[in-house]
Amino acid sequence: MDRRSFLGGLLAGVPLSLASLGRAEALPRQAAKSGTPAGAVAIASANGLEAVRVAYDQLVAGADPVDAAIAGVNLLELDPKDHSVGYGGLPNFDGVVQLDSAVMHGPSGKAGAVAALEGVKTPSKVARLVMQRTDHVLLVGEGARRFAAMHGFPSENLLTDEAREIWLRWREKLSTEDDWVAPPEDGEPGRQALFEGGPEELRPTGTIHLSALTPTGDLGCCTTTSGLFFKIPGRVGDSPLIGCGLYCDNDVGSAGGTGRGESAIVSNASHTAVEFMRQGLGPQQALLKTMERVVHLNRDPRLQRPDGRPNFNLRLYAVNKAGAYGSAAIWGGGKFAVADARGARLEEQAYLYRRQQS
Ligand code: ASP
Repeated sequence: MDRRSFLGGLLAGVPLSLASLGRAEALPRQAAKSGTPAGAVAIASANGLEAVRVAYDQLVAGADPVDAAIAGVNLLELDPKDHSVGYGGLPNFDGVVQLDSAVMHGPSGKAGAVAALEGVKTPSKVARLVMQRTDHVLLVGEGARRFAAMHGFPSENLLTDEAREIWLRWREKLSTEDDWVAPPEDGEPGRQALFEGGPEELRPTGTIHLSALTPTGDLGCCTTTSGLFFKIPGRVGDSPLIGCGLYCDNDVGSAGGTGRGESAIVSNASHTAVEFMRQGLGPQQALLKTMERVVHLNRDPRLQRPDGRPNFNLRLYAVNKAGAYGSAAIWGGGKFAVADARGARLEEQAYLYRRQQS
């Protein structure tokens, strides 16, 4: 089930169709993709098709890689219809939108990030200011908000009516044993039914990561998100953590991820991917090897299916200094967005496992 169906189900009060989740079966891994010729490249999560187009155009026009990445992700941050990033993002448990974002700049080796930032639609721009205008890397919560205000960002209400409705319905359906009552016409599925598909289905995630390579071989990246839907207030995911939700080394490549942030944190997924590229692997092979590490580290039975495989997904995206790119997930069937001299397009993501379609 994709994020859109999940949200649609909550909004319309339609019980989630667990049949669509299907059973899992192992399929051989996809063959590694070969890279593109050197030149500007922008790669992002599948929600970033327009973002990579914008970023690529900026890269070709001579923009700095972080500026190009931010220009791309801003499209989603400012889109009230996107419930996973910026304005219109789904709130935390208490109904408050808290945003995480980070940037990393290859040429300078610098990074900036904000976490649990409230009231600012474009946290990626605040992350860039942390990098440019402080001696620090990460500002959180109220301090991040005050820093943003100092730089002229107005404090705005980020909770759209649609996001509030989705949050309210989630609260009402959270438990059959609390004080919340969902409208009767819903055919209330109850908490157990929601849990049946595993954490990925219960708590879909959404984010955009964008890695950029300039025509002259400089790298930069940005990840931005409203984080795990309905998270515990103050929870910070991988997106603003350097090495976890993004990482770049100007000598090697750039990588970042979306999906279950906790798994990217404990595996330092993006840094791990860049290190595998440093050892000579192409981007896609480096990401698949990183996914094997993520699976190996996932030892909590609560986060495993009966066959031991993760019951969540993580997706990674990478480009190396030579312009080769790739993307991989634990669970297949997804796509990623890329733009280069051949235009902006979605391509199939490599994977470790694939669910059988029912
Ligand atoms: N990785 C993000 C987080 O855990 C969520 C996502 O990518 O959907 O906050």
